[in-house]
This record gives sequence, C-alpha cells and structure tokens, in this order.
Amino acid sequence: MGACQIRKYEENKGAVVIRVENNPLAIALGKTDEPMCHYLRAYWTGLVSEALEREVECTETRCMSKGDPHCEFVIVKQASKQVANGNDRN
Ligand SMILES: [Zn+2]
Repeated sequence: MGACQIRKYEENKGAVVIRVENNPLAIALGKTDEPMCHYLRAYWTGLVSEALEREVECTETRCMSKGDPHCEFVIVKQASKQVANGNDRN
C-alpha cells in the first residue's frame, strides 16, 4: 500500500467511500483517461466483502492518474447476493 493515506471512510445508505491520497500506484501510472487502480479496487472489494460478510461492488470514481487530486472508491453492497459458505467458517 506504500504511502497511501486513507482520508475518508464512511458508511451510509449502504455505501462505503474510501479516499486514497498520495497513491504511489496511480502516480507511477502517469496520465490515463480512466481510473487505473484495479489492484486497489480488488483489494477494497475483498476487504469490505470480508468485513461485511456479503458481496460488494467497488467502483473507482476518481483517480489520480486521471488528473483527480486523489483516488476515490465507492463500495456498495450487492443486495441480492450473500457470500457463499459463510456458515462453514470458524
Ligand atoms: Zn486511482
């Protein structure tokens, strides 16, 4: 995660917003036309999915490589699905 700084973490209306500043991955990528932090998106998806014990969908709405001042990820719960085999874990 390097020098990532999480500035914002809030959960309301079923959405979690995570803002990452000084994202070394995005800085290294340089200028692109679309959010490029697929690694971080997968990371947050897995983390929040585990924490909430349900499937979530993560979208990077802002990205430093796109020229935004920070990267921002919006994570919403998938209402229709539940994480499988939740009962099998200890
Ligand atoms: Zn990004």
